[in-house]
Amino acid sequence: MERFNFIPFSDWKFSFPKPLIISGPCGVESEKQIHEVAAELGRLNVHLLRGGIWKPRTRPDSFQGIGSEGLKWLKEAGLANNLPVTVEVANPKHVEEALREKIDVLWIGARTTVNPFLVQEIAEALSGVDIPVMVKNPINPELELWIGAIERIHKTGIKRIAAIHRGFSTYEKTKYRNVPNWQIPIELKRRYPELPIICDPSHICGSRNLIGSVAQTALDLNFDGLMIESHSHPEKALSDSQQQLTPSALKELLSQLVVRSAVVEDVLFLNLLEELRDRIDKLDEEILNKMSDRMEIAREIGKYKKTNNITILQVERWNEILRTRLQFGLDHELTREFILKMYELIHEESILQQTQMMNSEMWENRNQEERIKTQEPT
Ligand code: PEP
Ligand code: MN
Repeated sequence: MERFNFIPFSDWKFSFPKPLIISGPCGVESEKQIHEVAAELGRLNVHLLRGGIWKPRTRPDSFQGIGSEGLKWLKEAGLANNLPVTVEVANPKHVEEALREKIDVLWIGARTTVNPFLVQEIAEALSGVDIPVMVKNPINPELELWIGAIERIHKTGIKRIAAIHRGFSTYEKTKYRNVPNWQIPIELKRRYPELPIICDPSHICGSRNLIGSVAQTALDLNFDGLMIESHSHPEKALSDSQQQLTPSALKELLSQLVVRSAVVEDVLFLNLLEELRDRIDKLDEEILNKMSDRMEIAREIGKYKKTNNITILQVERWNEILRTRLQFGLDHELTREFILKMYELIHEESILQQTQMMNSEMWENRNQEERIKTQEPT
């Protein structure tokens, strides 16, 4: 595995603070539009102006982005308001044009991160160039693919890299456009603590009203920044109109966000925290012990099922477990989603343990027969 040495935001030439706030329209639509919104954002606590020039749209008849001429408008709007600018690049031609227009930061979109061929081509186009690159997560929830894309960029010698968490596609209907799956960016952070991670609540939520709570969660998880789409007239936006905020709505949202400290200095609080963590450690031990007892009984039941020649999966029993545990859990303030997920896992493990037990017995008997046949010592 590649050894990373990422440069923190504070040393990214622009001396970005934490949390870094990136904002701007989903897409640059006209010279007037980008100048109007940039002027408003320049008066807020925004540090980097975004604007898509080439838009990766699901359907061919949707607005595909204004194209190359927009790069100049974006750069000028940034200069006029003292903001560095960033665009999405999806191929070497985009990289070349963005570099020519002196775009300050590049980002790789979710639909590009999924494709190692493209990421490699982009990385090669960047070889020898020292420009910061932000890598969005792939649309499918696959951490390794995200890391792989970051690795390809890092191998070119670029050290100013950030990850952007923008949620993951699912076929299920949820309140989010892209489900956050927080455990994925958390695991990324655990593996590479020095890699800055930005959350893009706009593409996670897909609608304005959810953005605040997702942005707050990201800050509570110690993310390094936020990328939030904004448009002076969201209802007229040519793409992602449901999720863009007006600069004044953005201003209000930013003023409501609570930025907490990741390091604790208060000794009393530290003691309390330690005591609570001790209690959690003990409870976890108890949970695992109980789980192990439960599995032992499951194996025992497996033996009886085998002797009586009945299938491992007993649907009525499983339904009954789900129904009663769900009710019990709900009565104890656990969420429906958590109880169902947990019981699916427990049930899967019970079945696996029973199957393994039955099969290992079968294989043991067979091995014994073999040994007798070949007169091997047992
Ligand atoms: C965007 O930022 O406008 C965009 C297209 O995002 P994503 O790659 O996350 O879909
Ligand atoms: Mn968008």
